[in-house]
Amino acid sequence: MEIIKGKYSGFCLGVNYTYKKAKEEIVKGKTYCLGEIIHNNQVIKELEGMGMITIDNIESINDNSRVIFRAHGEPLKNYEYAEKHNLEIIDLTCGRVKLIHNKVSKEKNDSFILIIGKKTHPEIIGTIGFSGDNYYVIENESNIKDAFIEFKKSKLNKVYVVSQTTFSNSLFDELVNKIKKVFNDTLIKIDKTICDATEKRQTEVFNLSKSCNKMIVIGSNNSSNTIELYNIAKDNCKDTYFVEDETNLNKIKFNKDDVVGVVAGASVPKYLIEKVIKYIE
Ligand code: SF4
Repeated sequence: MEIIKGKYSGFCLGVNYTYKKAKEEIVKGKTYCLGEIIHNNQVIKELEGMGMITIDNIESINDNSRVIFRAHGEPLKNYEYAEKHNLEIIDLTCGRVKLIHNKVSKEKNDSFILIIGKKTHPEIIGTIGFSGDNYYVIENESNIKDAFIEFKKSKLNKVYVVSQTTFSNSLFDELVNKIKKVFNDTLIKIDKTICDATEKRQTEVFNLSKSCNKMIVIGSNNSSNTIELYNIAKDNCKDTYFVEDETNLNKIKFNKDDVVGVVAGASVPKYLIEKVIKYIE
């Protein structure tokens, strides 16, 4: 059997920084994390075991406490709340996400903001929180007409388009083409803010899944970027499996002449990928 591990699998730079920095900060004293620090249950368990307290609502945190803002970023109102309640923010928002916040904050003054991504994803909730009142989130083609109606209501005459950093590269291009048709003669500025880590990972999975007869995609089932990798792999390779860790592998039948591609989402630590590979070996 041949096992081919994706070169770009596992923690991206932003998640790696979050993980390392969180470990340093947690040991300094009681530390809350607003939402799941990253979309990986094993990592959450590990950090909670060190004392981190995951909490869903900023209003439940006592005044004067320390709180981690994770790599996905937080909406502006949470920074304002923290200041008002004297919370010490350990801001681990990825630099690339911060850049999107800065861009939409600037553009919102004279443009309607179109955000391509998943409405309920924490990163998008954060970006919405910097986009002012005139914005619309596009998840798929069916949202474009409604977005245009909202744009018309706003009385603005320019549109600024950004993307979730982990969005599908090809779907972004498709949606932009359709937006251009519906918004017709509107002045549209396209800013493809998909992270290059996401692009490299998706391209690699696309190529790998064409040359392997079995694909193992590692990640948590609430991780957008891992779901996207699974979808790309499944399109090319029918025998594709989504696993959280090595314990999910016992249901899969491996054969000695298999060529198995092993890839992982951006929230998967190296040790977990190694355990999966060891099991297959
Ligand atoms: S995928 Fe890119 S934008 Fe998202 S946390 Fe990782 S490095 Fe940052």
